[in-house]
Amino acid sequence: MTAALTLCKCQSFRVEPGTLCAWCQLDKNGRRFGWERIDRDTCPRVLVGKSCLNYESPDSFGSCWCGSRLNDHGNHWRDSDGVEFIVWEPYGIDGDRLNVVLAAAAAEGLDVWIDHYSLWHHRTTGIRFTARTQ
Ligand SMILES: [Zn+2]
Ligand SMILES: [Zn+2]
Repeated sequence: MTAALTLCKCQSFRVEPGTLCAWCQLDKNGRRFGWERIDRDTCPRVLVGKSCLNYESPDSFGSCWCGSRLNDHGNHWRDSDGVEFIVWEPYGIDGDRLNVVLAAAAAEGLDVWIDHYSLWHHRTTGIRFTARTQ
């Protein structure tokens, strides 16, 4: 017998009593850093005022570098200073794929910071993108 599930505080998912759904837990983890999740889009291009290349034309779907396998559990956040950023949280980071992402981010004017944020899971590593400010 498993315990009866109850409705999460967000009213969207049923969870084990006393726990949160994955999204509410993610938001709680972000608040540890003073971060607020503002969107689910995961393309870092939005941080520099561009749209994802996947949606630029009917033929471009799949062409954007945000389609990297490193883009796992991505979310769009804002910190307590009002700075918006995107964090991808893969379980592991392949060097060749990382090189592709770093080159693309640099070309878009994005800074990259890799840290052990563990927003999604205690084993994920965060790749944080912010617009370069000089
Ligand atoms: Zn919830
Ligand atoms: Zn994109």
